[in-house]
Amino acid sequence: MSNLRNPQYDACLHLATSYQCNLECNYCIAGIRYVSDIFTKADPINISALKKTLNNSNKIYRINFTGGEPFLTPNIVEACIELTKKHFIAFNSNLTPKKVEEFAEKINPERVLSIDASCHIKELERRNLLSRYIHNFLLCKNRGFNIRAIEVGYPPLLKESDKYIKIFLEKGIDLTFSPYLGSYKGKFYPDSYSEKELKILGLTEKDIIDWFHQYGKLCNAGYNVCIIYPDGDIRYCFFINKSLGNIYEGIKFNDKLIRCPVKLCNCPVNIYDPYLFRKAISEVGPYDAEWIQPFKNRIKEYMKNLFFERKQNYLIDNTRKLIIEKVMSNKFLRKYLFKHWI
Ligand code: SF4
Ligand code: SF4
Repeated sequence: MSNLRNPQYDACLHLATSYQCNLECNYCIAGIRYVSDIFTKADPINISALKKTLNNSNKIYRINFTGGEPFLTPNIVEACIELTKKHFIAFNSNLTPKKVEEFAEKINPERVLSIDASCHIKELERRNLLSRYIHNFLLCKNRGFNIRAIEVGYPPLLKESDKYIKIFLEKGIDLTFSPYLGSYKGKFYPDSYSEKELKILGLTEKDIIDWFHQYGKLCNAGYNVCIIYPDGDIRYCFFINKSLGNIYEGIKFNDKLIRCPVKLCNCPVNIYDPYLFRKAISEVGPYDAEWIQPFKNRIKEYMKNLFFERKQNYLIDNTRKLIIEKVMSNKFLRKYLFKHWI
């Protein structure tokens, strides 16, 4: 475990390194199986530009690598070596790419706040990767990383939770389940979990409401937490489109808190990092918190860039062509596009 029990950092960046993943889980909220044939390549991180932006902002960061699968990024270990000289890092990973071993060997566990090792059991079994997951998990654990094995509480899987918890326990791994957000057999989750299922997740109905139903509540997204898309574009959160710059050019945080504008949030930053939320409250207080437009503008802007302004420079021309062809060959999308954006 990390010796740094009270790490001091000023802000958190959720950095999606790419949309590429080596798995295709059927409950993936990143929609990987729909885009994996389009976003074919994880580009390297521009480490020197990233470091320059972070240095210029004069803050210590927690950088949460996510994706897609962040360990598919070609220079991820080099990026971690550089970033951990000054900042802290954390990972959401399926833990199966080869780079995990190199990471475990070269990176100081004391600068890694957490590794959430997503354990997609059925997909790992289907691809014969379960033993590699277990090997990499134990390697990281034995090297002293703060690592957790977390499976998505997909309703059909919860029926077999006892079996899988036992299998993992025999290997020395505590398997836990996290809430699934999405629909299954016409029901919407996490709201539709039964009492028995909630017990497996270790949650109550109140936890579900408090965590994911954030509409109107205070949030520090944009103030000291933000998300970064693979092209470096910085936004408040996955639902709020407003820009905070580009991580390879410069970052400018908002100077106040916001009120959450969406009914259901799948990553409530105020819950997931209470340290930064409390810090934000103590610095600026809740009184002039802003309301900001949610997600749909992001789609609008994305389509505009894709079709007209060609700003998404991480997309090579053939990929752009492929996306345009896919969108235009779908009757519904074509109609929607012409109605709203052209
Ligand atoms: S491992 Fe994660 S990102 Fe990859 S397909 Fe599964 S849920 Fe999606
Ligand atoms: S949707 Fe955005 S603003 Fe709302 S709680 Fe989630 S992170 Fe905060």
